[in-house]
Amino acid sequence: MSKYWSDAIKDLTPYTPGEQPKVDNLIKLNTNENPYPPAPAAIEALNSFDKDRLRLYSDPDCSALKEGLAEYHGVERHSVFVGNGSDEVLALAFMAFFRQPEPLLLPETTYSFYDVYCNLYDITYEQIPLTAEFGIDLADYDRPNGGIIFANPNAPTGRALPLAEIEALLQRNTQSLVIVDEAYVDFGADSAIELTRRYDNVLVIQTFSKSRSLAGLRVGYAIGHPDLIDGLERVKNSFNSYPLDMLAIAGATASLQDEDYFQQTNQKIIDSREWTAQQLAQLGFDSLPSCTNFLFTQHKFLAGAELMGYLRGNNILVRHFSKPGIENYLRITIGTQQEMEALVETLRNHPDL
Ligand SMILES: *Cc1c(COP(=O)(O)O)cnc(C)c1O
Repeated sequence: MSKYWSDAIKDLTPYTPGEQPKVDNLIKLNTNENPYPPAPAAIEALNSFDKDRLRLYSDPDCSALKEGLAEYHGVERHSVFVGNGSDEVLALAFMAFFRQPEPLLLPETTYSFYDVYCNLYDITYEQIPLTAEFGIDLADYDRPNGGIIFANPNAPTGRALPLAEIEALLQRNTQSLVIVDEAYVDFGADSAIELTRRYDNVLVIQTFSKSRSLAGLRVGYAIGHPDLIDGLERVKNSFNSYPLDMLAIAGATASLQDEDYFQQTNQKIIDSREWTAQQLAQLGFDSLPSCTNFLFTQHKFLAGAELMGYLRGNNILVRHFSKPGIENYLRITIGTQQEMEALVETLRNHPDL
């Protein structure tokens, strides 16, 4: 605290990211990073990048990346916005769309950055409880609102909504924008991008951080009606002309060209996820069905915090949230098959298992 702080920052509660340990003998299953390297095409683009060019500013419009994404997703170029990680895209979107007289609606248990942005921008919001099975029931969102946001699949639960339910919501909720955060969609859910071609009240946000193994490059994007994209550009250009550096643009654009590698690594993670869920079940864990690269799981009698500490003592990091209602759960990122075998072996050696 300093006397120079403005009143606005005194009351902020910033987001707490998962630990990024300084030592490297740990099995890191706590921040949903991808255990496999980025696509060979992305690595090659970064290796062959002409560093002399770094004296120039990067392309403020990120045209190459937008065109690559437009082609990849079969949308027009003016339907694509890119940013420095999807966290930045979300931050700009909250600013652009959600500062409304009516409250923003979001699930009570979801990505915890959403309420951080609400506090940053003074957006009033209502948290809608999940169902008893930790699902999202979109009928609960039929109430006056200044916008709706949810992650699909949701985090940290891992559950996904069918596209038909999202489309039905778009048909009912025509006076405000619906944002679907699809950070994990490539691990087994259906993307709402196709709905952006027919509905102007939906914005879909995706990232290169999870399924494309590029968390450290910081690239995210939004797809929606060109008028929505225009709104995002207005905020972005009032904030930072060059949020993506040249290396990020080059690496992300190239990664889109390696579809086979993308499909193969995603499938490996899905296979390891299903294997891990089965093994955990044999050890007395109950996992929610997951469409993501993590499992949200609870043990029959061992407490979540205790298990996290035990794993930490054995050099395995997992995420635990002390939030009431989910405090007994662990969120375990799917690593390589070998890492998941080490996790299962370590749990099997727990004195009470
Ligand atoms: C990881 C994650 C993000 C942020 O991704 P970045 O692109 O790395 O900023 C956004 N939303 C959800 C739900 C996430 O899990």
